[in-house]
Amino acid sequence: MAWDFSTEPEFEAKLAWMRDFVRDEIFPLETLAEEFRSPEGRELYGRMTEPLKQQVRDQGLWASHLPPELGGGGFGQVKLGLMHEILGQSPLAPRIFGNNAPDSGNAELLSIGGTDYQKTTWMEPLLAGEIRSCFSMTEPGAGADPTMLTTQAERDGDEWVINGHKWFSSNASVADILIVMVKTNLDPDASPYRSFSMIVVPTDTPGVNILRDVPTMGEPDHKTGEPGGHAEIIYDNVRVPFDNLVGGEEGIGQGFALAQKRLGPGRIHHAMRWLGQSSRAFDLLCERALTRETKGSLLAEKQMIQDWIAQSYADRQAARLLTLHAAWTMDKLHAEGRHYSDARLEIGVIKFWGAKVLHDVIDRAIQIHGSLGYTTDLPLESMYRAARAARIYDGPDEVHKVTVARQVLKNYKASDPSIDHVPTRRAEALDRYADYLDELAINS
Ligand SMILES: Cc1cc2nc3c(=O)[nH]c(=O)nc-3n(C[C@H](O)[C@H](O)[C@H](O)COP(=O)(O)OP(=O)(O)OC[C@H]3O[C@@H](n4cnc5c(N)ncnc54)[C@H](O)[C@@H]3O)c2cc1C
Repeated sequence: MAWDFSTEPEFEAKLAWMRDFVRDEIFPLETLAEEFRSPEGRELYGRMTEPLKQQVRDQGLWASHLPPELGGGGFGQVKLGLMHEILGQSPLAPRIFGNNAPDSGNAELLSIGGTDYQKTTWMEPLLAGEIRSCFSMTEPGAGADPTMLTTQAERDGDEWVINGHKWFSSNASVADILIVMVKTNLDPDASPYRSFSMIVVPTDTPGVNILRDVPTMGEPDHKTGEPGGHAEIIYDNVRVPFDNLVGGEEGIGQGFALAQKRLGPGRIHHAMRWLGQSSRAFDLLCERALTRETKGSLLAEKQMIQDWIAQSYADRQAARLLTLHAAWTMDKLHAEGRHYSDARLEIGVIKFWGAKVLHDVIDRAIQIHGSLGYTTDLPLESMYRAARAARIYDGPDEVHKVTVARQVLKNYKASDPSIDHVPTRRAEALDRYADYLDELAINS
């Protein structure tokens, strides 16, 4: 099957509409971030963006990651990737299009693994943008290796009782529900991969103690309770109904399997949003090269700067093709009735490659702007701080490289001597062509 990332003209028209809409209607709001920080400011922002969300709905582009029966466009991963590339240009755009993390992934998770009750109670309001959610998995003592998570839930009659300590639970302090990864099988001999489950915990449940939103490199002056925070939470004898376990009885022990299903498409969307983000940095890089003169010529005429432009172009193009190829592979698997997780090689590659390209392009854009690049007069410094996290969240680079290397090595086997050992191959060739070579010996 040919690799084909083209889309039909009707969809291209939608992308063109999105490009104009994001640039003309959403970019201007970015500069007012300070005004929107207070509770009144957030309320005002909500009112200002409601008509924008309506325009997105009118275009049939709201919550586009979901299948049509859930109100999405049923676009498939290649088209979604192309849409996320546009949305990634502004941190405000995903929410205005109804597919901001972590709500989009959580709604998708409930659509894949939730019971009918869970879909009605939480997924539908999430899709309608009426409630907010959080995915609460990482702990101070365990992240990249989730088998080490210690937060646990014990069944007590018709309830689960949850105890544990999480952090980096993004958006928890503004969320209505927390989807918490918990250990439900405490048998030390049980496979850790089937010992975890996810439970929906309404944030106002007694025992949910949100200690703080942890200030980060991305947002050092973040105040607890503002959107976009990363909360530290103690779950202290938190009791929720048995029916809150994602998937009900069948969902027990399925936490990791569900997490994989949730994260696969999300990584394509991340990688494409990073391309959208780096497109802005790349534009600034090129614009500056054509504007600034030093030592008698434009920066654009200096070979070192030309190297950055060529390298950034090639890096971004490679990341784009890798990501679209991963998206295409996922669409193909889906068409064959197979699961996205079979594309773990392709997904692993774009996670670490895309994050590096994002970082490097922004870094070069800062460098070419000199002191201006380091100031808050340009968005590059905040983009740079945000970009650093991309190498950590959704699995650090190193973990994805491990996955990629393992998948690649499945196509190889040990060989001693090497398959390309010249003396061995020569001995085989001498044997194989002995008749001809005998002739050669006679003639000579
Ligand atoms: C901005 C941001 C938002 C986040 N949002 C959420 C969220 O909403 N919900 C949530 O649950 N979590 C969230 N996280 C947490 C994130 O998923 C974890 O940080 C990540 O999984 C890594 O876990 P850790 O921080 O505990 O690092 P550790 O597991 O301690 O790993 C530390 C480092 O060790 C190295 N390492 C780890 N494993 C290997 C290996 N196998 N081989 C080689 N080297 C290795 C890597 O360099 C890694 O960076 C977020 C993190 C950030 C930065």
